[in-house]
Amino acid sequence: MTGITIALSKGRIFEETLPLLAAAGIVPADDPETSRKLILGTNRADVRLVIVRASDTPTYVQYGAADLGIAGKDVLIEHGGAGLYQPLDLKIARCRMAVAVPNGFDYVAAVRRGARLRVASKYIQTAREHFAAKGVHVDLIKLYGSMELAPLVGLADAIVDLVSSGNTLKANNLVAVEDIMPISSRLIVNQASLKMKRELLQPVIDAFAGAVRD
Ligand code: ATP
Ligand code: MG
Repeated sequence: MTGITIALSKGRIFEETLPLLAAAGIVPADDPETSRKLILGTNRADVRLVIVRASDTPTYVQYGAADLGIAGKDVLIEHGGAGLYQPLDLKIARCRMAVAVPNGFDYVAAVRRGARLRVASKYIQTAREHFAAKGVHVDLIKLYGSMELAPLVGLADAIVDLVSSGNTLKANNLVAVEDIMPISSRLIVNQASLKMKRELLQPVIDAFAGAVRD
């Protein structure tokens, strides 16, 4: 493709990216919430959007199936970032990565005792690095969603998950006991595309940079 392909996930990333696209003069021709199309045209004949699963965005960009993409830091850490240039923190889809446990579970005491913790998460790399840096021994259990359930049914002592309002934790009698890192979404660029299509990509990257809001 001689134009630009941008990979986005539907939901919050698509919604929060619309103003950035608008700043670059790009308006999607369809709404992914109502359209079943996975390739969306735009007002520009040389720009198309592909709608992918959030955790797949770095993969599409890594292999050059998309030139640009927008992905959460959480997703980028798990992917590893190979083949990706990450020029911009877009400061959208903001939340934080945290350790959460059931109300009443004495996390600090468990860590101090040197107990081996069972931790369930979708974010295995993040969890592994966090506990390794603290010198806490953990058994990591990979899940793909609804992490909040794991401690409630005895699958794990703790979870590592994204938290924004904390309402989901609260509704499940869990509490965040440790912040791991703030999370926001980044612009990612295929490294070969940036060399081959710089005259097309750079204006989009610059427009995004100018539209970032704190
Ligand atoms: P899927 O729903 O396909 O399993 P997902 O849950 O990762 O994937 P989204 O919920 O659209 O997909 O989240 C996309 C990104 O938005 C995440 O990777 C994360 O960076 C960020 N995010 C997730 N939850 C929140 C939240 N509650 N508030 C703000 N940002 C969030
Ligand atoms: Mg989600």
